[in-house]
Amino acid sequence: MDTQTITDTRIPARIVKPEPRVPPNMPDHAAACAGFRWEQALDQMARLPGGGLNIVHEAVDRHVLAGLGTRDAIRWIGRNGTRRTFRYADLAAETNRFASALRQLGVAPGEGVFVLLGRLPELYVAVLGSLKAGCVVTPLFSAFGPEPIATRCEMGDARLLVTTPELYQRKIAGLRERLPGLKHVLLVGDGPAEGPGLLRWNECVERASPDFTTVATDEDSPSLLHFTSGTTGRPKGAMHVHGAVLAHWATGRFALDLHDEDIFWCTADPGWVTGTSYGIIAPLVCGVTNVVVEAEFDAATWYEVLERERVSVWYTAPTAIRMMMRLGTGPLQGRDLSALRFMASVGEPLNPEAVVWGLEAFGLPFHDNWWQTETGGIMVSNFAAMDIRPGSMGKPLPGITAAIVLRDTEGRVAVVDAPDTQGELALRAPWPSMMRGYLHEEERYRRCFAEGWYLTGDLARRDADGYYWFVGRADDVIKSSGHLIGPFEVESVLIEHPAVAEAGVIGIPDPTAGEVVKAFVALKPGFEPGEALGRELLGHARKRLGAAVAPKSIEFRSNLPKTRSGKIMRRLLKARELGLPEGDLSTLESDGR
Ligand code: ATP
Ligand code: MG
Repeated sequence: MDTQTITDTRIPARIVKPEPRVPPNMPDHAAACAGFRWEQALDQMARLPGGGLNIVHEAVDRHVLAGLGTRDAIRWIGRNGTRRTFRYADLAAETNRFASALRQLGVAPGEGVFVLLGRLPELYVAVLGSLKAGCVVTPLFSAFGPEPIATRCEMGDARLLVTTPELYQRKIAGLRERLPGLKHVLLVGDGPAEGPGLLRWNECVERASPDFTTVATDEDSPSLLHFTSGTTGRPKGAMHVHGAVLAHWATGRFALDLHDEDIFWCTADPGWVTGTSYGIIAPLVCGVTNVVVEAEFDAATWYEVLERERVSVWYTAPTAIRMMMRLGTGPLQGRDLSALRFMASVGEPLNPEAVVWGLEAFGLPFHDNWWQTETGGIMVSNFAAMDIRPGSMGKPLPGITAAIVLRDTEGRVAVVDAPDTQGELALRAPWPSMMRGYLHEEERYRRCFAEGWYLTGDLARRDADGYYWFVGRADDVIKSSGHLIGPFEVESVLIEHPAVAEAGVIGIPDPTAGEVVKAFVALKPGFEPGEALGRELLGHARKRLGAAVAPKSIEFRSNLPKTRSGKIMRRLLKARELGLPEGDLSTLESDGR
């Protein structure tokens, strides 16, 4: 690796974890990898009566057929404290009703259903019901503005949209003429709304038949259309298939270590692929109880959910962990989180500091794992039975062959076997949850593959023991005086400093060095920006990283620009710094100015 090795840190090189409370589903990673065939995952599926494969049959109906219909499937906790519980049998009936309603309305298998709802119970029914009906479903963030909604509905040729009257009037009514293919809009809840094809959920779905024969989809039938987070540019529409359920099952069992009796909570919104693959499908496929929280992040609410619901497995993201770290362990005092036994994180590099903080605050480390919208499920993970090396994203899932590769100018791919060499992370294609296309961008899809490898666009390295370490997105890596600097390494060192809550690092052009590192920093409560603190942070970074890699300048921000999925948008920091066009901002959540 080009970057200098970090020295002098209080972060241990490896965390030997407390004895697991339940034996991990995968006690030995190497043995599991050696013996694993995807056919074994297929054997775990019930399959449709005619032999087909449908995500929702595996996630819901087969549990009912196996006599587990009374088990809680989804425990929904509303913003105002209201609760609604769907047992597996209830969910089977409700999703049948939704699928029946689609059929009655003439929405055919293969056609697009879009869902624009906050995390309401109907969102979960609509997504699963659409899949039963063989439709291609896209959950969208309800906070999207009219333009991103319209563009995505246009791209995905939405036939039916599920939303609320309020969202409809505010965001869609004015754009209806752009969506001639949108035949029906199903409104959840009361409230006035006017427009063509408007229907009410309670008239249409609640009165539809609870009997429905799941459409005979198979492994290659389209299932979900998910748009990427837009961190590096305009979001791409990744097409997924029903066969992905094999990966949802395998990762639910191995990466999240789900056991039948678990109470699982994934904090992501289904508008982000994590909130669908792991906020809906994987926990249900594994037959556990899935907690859904309507409210947005608030540390007190979250800790209360963990305590009251007796959450045992928790899946969240670095941005949320950093927000909790900002507040310190105070809000955790007096909480009984004794049910919690496994914590995982995804979406961005998980700073080593955050892994260690997890241990301090919860007595458990966060297990980082890596994947993308395109991969459909977790690909690299810190598994329950492995020691954690803070800062590493772990090892490949059984059934997944990962490699570090280098591409030459002709696009040929060379696999790098030597450890600790930086290159592009690649995955051997295909695997069950691999995307099957970028919507309307065939050429771009084709360019993701070479010589049997799927090229992820992320730079990483693998150590001698097979742990993968994220370096940065190929687009974000900074080239400074012959060094290749991954922003993550610099950001992680900055957030080790007690004053720093969050950091975003970019390269800015420099006549002698090519690029120099600049850091944008948000502070924890109780710290004030100022020259002295800036100098202190630069000194801390220089001491830890060396002068060649440390930032040359620091700018304080109250917040950093982030996508709705919580990722720091370095490209926006850079565009603003250099006065360049800001590009697609459809997924921007916090502006961070
Ligand atoms: P876009 O492709 O539109 O720029 P995006 O890549 O952020 O957006 P997602 O598919 O949501 O969209 O995110 C996948 C990316 O997130 C990965 O390619 C990687 O860069 C980053 N990522 C996810 N998990 C991790 C992790 N554990 N460590 C480091 N990076 C991660
Ligand atoms: Mg991406």
